[in-house]
Amino acid sequence: MTTDAAPTETSPGTTGEAPGEAEVIGALSPSRAGDFMTCPLLYRFRVIDRIPEQPTPAMLRGTVVHAVLERLFELPAGERTPERAGGLLEPEWQRLLEEDPELAAIFHDDAERTGWLNGARELIGRYFTLEDPNRLEPAEREMYVETVLESGLKLRGYIDRLDVAPGGEVRIVDYKTGTAPSEVFEARALFQMKFYALVLWRLRGSVPRLLQLMYLGSGEVLRYEPGEAELVATERKLRALWAAIERARDTGDWRARRSRLCDWCDHQSRCPEFGGTPPPLPDPNAVPVAVDPEPAHATSTDL
Ligand code: SF4
Repeated sequence: MTTDAAPTETSPGTTGEAPGEAEVIGALSPSRAGDFMTCPLLYRFRVIDRIPEQPTPAMLRGTVVHAVLERLFELPAGERTPERAGGLLEPEWQRLLEEDPELAAIFHDDAERTGWLNGARELIGRYFTLEDPNRLEPAEREMYVETVLESGLKLRGYIDRLDVAPGGEVRIVDYKTGTAPSEVFEARALFQMKFYALVLWRLRGSVPRLLQLMYLGSGEVLRYEPGEAELVATERKLRALWAAIERARDTGDWRARRSRLCDWCDHQSRCPEFGGTPPPLPDPNAVPVAVDPEPAHATSTDL
């Protein structure tokens, strides 16, 4: 897991300009783009209101498992075994606790915490059924990427792993701690991967060869070869998405859109779809160019 400081994300309505770049009109990560596509009100709560969300055991498990899979490659090839990986779990959990001692309250007792750790160990074990990490030397892990499109929209996020073949072909790998998704969720996951492919294409000048989603919950791997035309379409879609976000900002119409994802939403109590009332919108002048609330791994995309 990266320890880089979280990048800044421009809220709609604020602008910034990096040296030598076009004026930045806004910034999107795959998770926040996915939020708006799922439910504009959810995007508002996360990006505009910045309402803190209660971490869940499943989210924490995703964070810990990602950290272990990153650390695993610090071991020399030959020593990357399920046992060694399992041994990294407790220290990673302790590290998270040091950063935020309140996380301890998420578990009612030791038995619950042990069950949670065992669940994480199971996911790590399943990873080894999908590939042999001793045969890999990733080019990058927890790689922060960022680019500014011609339109001025900044795209940024973290790529779990980047593999580069001797011939130079690039593979983007993303670990999901959930199960392989239904068609709707698969489209969302693929959109996230195309987002990263577009960023890398813009940064490096060539389209990544393969996008690989590894579902540790079900032990399945989804592979996809992106094409240039698709990535151009992804860029177009992101431009349209940002225009829609700006429209919502201008009109104040952050519409709630009910879906199966509501089951995991932390904001039901303030959502009109569930009888709640959203808080008043903050003064747009008071919304700072704030730190992105998204952690290195947004487990919401695991859904
Ligand atoms: S509960 Fe559903 S409709 Fe309401 S904000 Fe959350 S995701 Fe949107």
